[in-house]
Amino acid sequence: MFEKTVQEARLLSPLNDFKLVTQPIEIRKDPLTGRRCRINLERAKRPKQAAKTTDMENIVEASLAKCFFCAENLEKMTPMFPEDFPERRIKVGTACIFPNLFPFGGFHAVGVFSNDHHLDPNQFSPKLLEDCFKGCLRYFEQVHERYPEIKYWHINWNYMPPAAASIIHPHVQLTADPDPTSRLQEFIRSSRSYFDREGSNYWSDLVEAERNKKERFIGETGSAVWITSFAPEGNSEVVAVFTGISAMTNLKKRGLGDFCGGLSRILKGYYVLGVQSFNMTTFSGPCDEDLSEYYLLNAKLVSRPNPKRFYTSDDGFMEKLHHESVVETMPETLAEKLREHF
Ligand SMILES: [Zn+2]
Repeated sequence: MFEKTVQEARLLSPLNDFKLVTQPIEIRKDPLTGRRCRINLERAKRPKQAAKTTDMENIVEASLAKCFFCAENLEKMTPMFPEDFPERRIKVGTACIFPNLFPFGGFHAVGVFSNDHHLDPNQFSPKLLEDCFKGCLRYFEQVHERYPEIKYWHINWNYMPPAAASIIHPHVQLTADPDPTSRLQEFIRSSRSYFDREGSNYWSDLVEAERNKKERFIGETGSAVWITSFAPEGNSEVVAVFTGISAMTNLKKRGLGDFCGGLSRILKGYYVLGVQSFNMTTFSGPCDEDLSEYYLLNAKLVSRPNPKRFYTSDDGFMEKLHHESVVETMPETLAEKLREHF
């Protein structure tokens, strides 16, 4: 009844003279629903920059004092990949990828965009995004070469503390797992049943329907199609669907530039709308299989409350415990506003 597996994260830790340390992570399954949860007690020790100040105006300045991700500290204070990896840290342009010091999976890394300690959402240029995401793909490939069973790759982004970022300095988190997350599994399964039932690809049908309806269609950047969700899970929810590919593996050859170009526009739109905090993730099929007959790679963004001294969380009992969202924006109005940036 009580099922769990243990993953081990390996990193050369700055807290231990860059010697190899391992941290166990328990992946437990809810006995009734199978929903997964991850436990790493080490994470409780991670520093949270927002805790140092109660004043929003000073949050950026205060967090600057001892930031692990600023250039003068990054080399000294962030971990490195263990010796069996080809690079201790992966560098592409201004981006730097290294292991997460407080991982919640065996393969959990951090991608810092640049030496800029704070960037507003409108300051993420396509190039800044693309260099960082190129580094992410390189990490995933290096993991998969060594551990072929690690086939589910995700680029995740918590921007600012209300979105659960413990460090203000802009960064993404890379997670790679042997199994899909609970949500990804649900997406893939439901897409498969839709295919069996309707004889077509849900994601292609969705893009087609939204393109015809024009109500929630934002725009296209090459192979990436941008829409707002009909029934959002969060405020200001935007979805990107990648035509023709089911996994991030293919993104390097085709689509990464398209994705970054579109994402940069969405973030400009968020900025204009006053969004100062958001989450983003990618939902990629397994890296070594082509599911594109019934599943397409997609990504999702939701806004979070703006960082200020006291804010009301958007994660209440309905979201946190009932897994149903209460949303404050009409998807159709949001699409109309974001369309201006395409
Ligand atoms: Zn910094």
